[in-house]
Amino acid sequence: MVIFGLRTKVFVLAMMTLLCPRCGNSAAHPVHKSVTKFTLFFIPLFPVKTRYTTQCTFCGVTSRLSKDQATQLI
Ligand SMILES: [Zn+2]
Repeated sequence: MVIFGLRTKVFVLAMMTLLCPRCGNSAAHPVHKSVTKFTLFFIPLFPVKTRYTTQCTFCGVTSRLSKDQATQLI
């Protein structure tokens, strides 16, 4: 029997003070990198999806970032 699946890990790359597009407040925004890896027998093997997001700590809105935008912010 083969056990496989996906596992997502979230890393905080940086804390930025940005102007939120929704609430308009200048609040702290952590820049998250979430990496989904293919696992075989619970061992992560290779990444299948990488996503960059930032979240407003004031209103909680999450926005997607491209890899270029994320590297520019950091
Ligand atoms: Zn906000």
